[in-house]
Amino acid sequence: MCIKEFYLSDSQALTDVSIDSLLRVFTVPEKAEATLNQVDRELSLDIAAFLNARVVATEKDLAEIEAEFASAVIPEEPVRVAHHIDNLMEKLVAHSVNTYAPGFIGHMTSALPYFMLPLSKIMVALNQNVVKTETSKAFTPMERQVLGMMHHLVFARAEAFYRHWLHHADGQLGAMCSGGTVANITALWVARNRCYGPKPGFAGIAKAGWSQALAAYGDRDAVVLVSERGHYSLSKAADVLGIGRDNIRSVPCTDSGSIDIQQLSDIIASCHDRGERVISLVAVAGSTETGCIDALDEMAVIAEREGIWLHVDAAWGGPALFSDKHRSLLKGIERADSVTIDAHKQMYVPMGVGMVLFRDPESQSSIRHHANYIIRQGSKDLGSSTLEGSRPAMSMLVHAGLHIFGRRGYGLLVENNIQRCKYFSTLIDMAADFELVSVPVLNILTYRYVPAPLQRWLESPENAASEVSVRVELLLNQATQILQRAQRERGQYFVSRTSLPHARQQGLLKTVFRVVLANPLTTDEILTAILQEQRELAAGPAVKVLWQEIKQLSGVALI
Ligand SMILES: *Cc1c(COP(=O)(O)O)cnc(C)c1O
Repeated sequence: MCIKEFYLSDSQALTDVSIDSLLRVFTVPEKAEATLNQVDRELSLDIAAFLNARVVATEKDLAEIEAEFASAVIPEEPVRVAHHIDNLMEKLVAHSVNTYAPGFIGHMTSALPYFMLPLSKIMVALNQNVVKTETSKAFTPMERQVLGMMHHLVFARAEAFYRHWLHHADGQLGAMCSGGTVANITALWVARNRCYGPKPGFAGIAKAGWSQALAAYGDRDAVVLVSERGHYSLSKAADVLGIGRDNIRSVPCTDSGSIDIQQLSDIIASCHDRGERVISLVAVAGSTETGCIDALDEMAVIAEREGIWLHVDAAWGGPALFSDKHRSLLKGIERADSVTIDAHKQMYVPMGVGMVLFRDPESQSSIRHHANYIIRQGSKDLGSSTLEGSRPAMSMLVHAGLHIFGRRGYGLLVENNIQRCKYFSTLIDMAADFELVSVPVLNILTYRYVPAPLQRWLESPENAASEVSVRVELLLNQATQILQRAQRERGQYFVSRTSLPHARQQGLLKTVFRVVLANPLTTDEILTAILQEQRELAAGPAVKVLWQEIKQLSGVALI
C-alpha cells in the first residue's frame, strides 16, 4: 500500500508505522476535510462563535474530567491526526474555560483581538528562538524595538538615549519573558546582584553566593519590602534567589489599599537597626485583588534617599500609561529602577508574555552570563541576560499590538475598562442590597451581597464592635462563597472571589466578589444581569439557612 492511500483510509490507527509515514506527518497535512482543517477554518471565521459552540457552559465535575486523563502510559502506536483532534474537541476543548465570554468577569484573562490568532500561527511556523541572533535574526532587533517602545512608555527618556541604546550590545532596556512572575524574579535578581556586587576580596554574590555576600558586606540578613497587597510571585522570587520567603517583609496598607508610607519608613529604619539590608522596595501598581496603586512618587523619594532599588510591579496596571487620561495614576513610575508589565493581561496578547524594563540599560550586566558555544562576549544575544534560555518570539505579538492598536488604541481600551468599572461600582452603590468593598482605582472592584436591613445593623456603632457581629460576618462570608459558586455553576456569568482584611473588625477577613473588567466585549447590560442573578440566588434555597442563622443572632429579618 502506498503512503498516500494509507492516509486517505479511515482507520484510526496507523497500521504501517514507518519512518516514511512519520515524515509525512512533518510535511503534509491529512486530506483537507479532516477535522483539524475544519477546526482551523471555524476559528479563523469567528473565534467567539467557535468557543460558544464548542465549549460547554455547564460545569462538569473535575473528578469526571480527570477520569478522561487517567492513563499514565504513553500510547504505543501512532494514530491519525484527525482521530486525535476528535478526542481533543470532546474531552479538552469542550471543558475548557471560555475566556471570551463577556459575562466572565472574574479573571485577568479575556478575549483576544482576532489578528493574534493567525499571527501566532506565523510565529509557530517560523519557530524562531530569540535566545540568540543565530536562531532569530530580525527577531532580535524587533524584540529590542518592542522593549524600547515599552521603555519609552514608562521612562520617556530623550530620543538620543534610545538612538544610543536600542540596539547596543552593551545594554538592554529590559527583558521579555513568560509573564509577570519571571519579570519580578528578574528584577529582584538584578537588585540582589547590584546590592552584593564584587569588591576587593569578594567576587560578588553571583559567583560567591549568599554566605560570603553577607560576610563581605557585614549584614545580618537581607530583605525585600512590599505592601501586604503584593503578588505571591514576589515570595517565589525571594525563594529562588535565596532571600527566603520570610524576608519578603509585608508593609501594612492604608484604608485605600496602598502602602502606608509612614510605616514603610519606620520598617526601613528598624531593618537598619537590626543589620538587615533592604535589597529592594517593591511598589504595586494595580494590585491583583483590588487594582490599588501605591504612592509611587513617595516611594521613589524614600528609595532615592536610602539608595534602595525601587521595583514597580505594574504587571496589571502598567497599560494605564497608554491613556492620556489615566497616565497620572502611575505618576512616579519613571523614577523606578525596574518595572514589570504583563502583555498577556491588559495588552491582549496570548498567554505567555511579560516583560521587565530597566531605567538604566546597564542594569542587566549584573546578571549577564556568557557561554562560549552560545552567548559570546559583545554579542547582541538576548539570552545572555534573561532568566529563560530558549524562548518563543512572543514579542512579535506585542509588536503587532503596539502597531495595530497604537498608543491611542490601547489608551482607549484602558479608558473603556476603567469607565465600565466605574459604572459597575455606581450600580453596586445604588443597589440597597449590595455593598461596594473596594472602590475601583483602575478596572478591578470587590463587593458583596448584604441585605439592606443587615447593612444598617452592621453599620450601627453599638453592633459594629460586638461579638455577635463577628459571627454575623463569618456567616456572610459563607453566603458570599456559596453565591459565587452557585453563579459559576449556572454557567452564564462568572465573578471570582477573594478575602480582604475587614475595615471595621481587626484580624477578620471579609469574603468578597472580585470583578475584573478587561474584556472589551462586556456590556453594561451584562453587569446589571450579574447583580440580578446574584440577587435571585440570594433569595433561593442555597443560602436560606444562613439568613435564618443571621436573623437569630442579630434579630434582623432578611428575606
Ligand atoms: C498577574 C500578576 C503577576 C504575575 O504575573 P504572571 O504573568 O501570572 O506570572 C504579578 N504581579 C501582579 C500585580 C499581577 O497582577
